[in-house]
Amino acid sequence: MDHFLYRNGTLHAEDVPVAEIAAEVGTPFYLYSTATLTRHYTLFDEALAWGPHLVCYAMKAASNQAILKTLAGLGAGMDVVSGGEYARAVAAGVPGEKIVFSGVGKTEEEMRAALAGGVRQFNLESEPEMERLNAVALSMGLVAPVTVRVNPDVDAKTHAKIATGKSENKFGIPISRARDIYAQIAKMKGLRAVGIDVHIGSQLTDLEPYRQAFMKVGDLTDQLRADGHVIERLDLGGGLGIPYTRGNEAPPLPSDYGQLIRETLGDKGCEIEIEPGRLVAGNAGIMVSRVIYVKSGEGRDFLILDGAMNDLIRPAMYDAHHDIVPVTEPEAGAEQRPYDIVGPVCESGDTFAKQRMMPPLAENDLVAFRSAGAYGAVMSSEYNTRPLIPEVLVNGHQFAVIRARPSFEDIINRDTLPSWL
Ligand SMILES: *Cc1c(COP(=O)(O)O)cnc(C)c1O
Repeated sequence: MDHFLYRNGTLHAEDVPVAEIAAEVGTPFYLYSTATLTRHYTLFDEALAWGPHLVCYAMKAASNQAILKTLAGLGAGMDVVSGGEYARAVAAGVPGEKIVFSGVGKTEEEMRAALAGGVRQFNLESEPEMERLNAVALSMGLVAPVTVRVNPDVDAKTHAKIATGKSENKFGIPISRARDIYAQIAKMKGLRAVGIDVHIGSQLTDLEPYRQAFMKVGDLTDQLRADGHVIERLDLGGGLGIPYTRGNEAPPLPSDYGQLIRETLGDKGCEIEIEPGRLVAGNAGIMVSRVIYVKSGEGRDFLILDGAMNDLIRPAMYDAHHDIVPVTEPEAGAEQRPYDIVGPVCESGDTFAKQRMMPPLAENDLVAFRSAGAYGAVMSSEYNTRPLIPEVLVNGHQFAVIRARPSFEDIINRDTLPSWL
């Protein structure tokens, strides 16, 4: 559930009318709810309350400082995938010992910064990376805590671009190689294995692939311990999906997921780490946009919005569905008609929905894209020299701009001219 509901005929974010924010901030913009962020984080935290655990929010889903600070204040750790994200987590007040560093291409520079900051662990994804981290740690006189991200070769049954747990994906080390890798780590003076890591993909709507992966991780834990390694943490990644279409069957709840972890791995005596991103932020955010024109084409009507693919790329990139609702509540039983809902960018890919049934809309009407909190603002660009759209955070009756819209001047001044021009 989220906190974007109609009240008195108009969409509210918690206690604030969305139209009021639009009037003040201008459109388009992203709007997040503190109550929803808090609720989703808490659901995960409670789902693992049966044992020691740390919920490391996968901040690539939505990484505004205000969001990070909200979650960090609840006790969240962070899962980061770049030096930039590491710096951002630290800036939001997250201590190094609560930050896990994931990603297939960590550079020496990134390793050094995270080691200096006392990072909780690196999730290693390859043998060359293992060698590199060992060398970096030794050069600093430190020992890097590591897990190995194993690729369990299970089908996450999600969109191909966000599946990561099959052997053909670039992620992790084949689980069959794990014993050998841990034996190598044990000989490296700059590394100390602390556990095992797995992450099989994003937007999973079925627990079965998790069960398969976790069973394999459980077996590997036993094997590695028999080989003499200390396995004290299990990082189980993220990926639990969210309902993008209202009224469709809901994906499993965090409580079911927590129960599955308990069933499959609860007897290992390990601290459990999870890295949810989408489920924490996805339904905690909407994108608000305004209708610029209603254009009648041949046999179809286009709603041309001021938001575009550069602001929300998911439909163009993953054929993703977002529910789009008018900010003014339609009357019960209002007629619906099909629209192609598009942005102003000069590409046919700039289409949010085709033949979407909507109540009749007119110029200047506001619409909200639901479930836009994750992989929304963070994936936006300034394509067509369209400024990055603002982010706004609501908390009860209050709201604040947490990233302002840059001016055209701000954008233009970021370019520098060479001396010969
Ligand atoms: C992207 C990612 C996550 C988060 O996935 P969600 O689907 O947003 O929960 C967690 N861990 C790793 C390693 C990731 O790459």
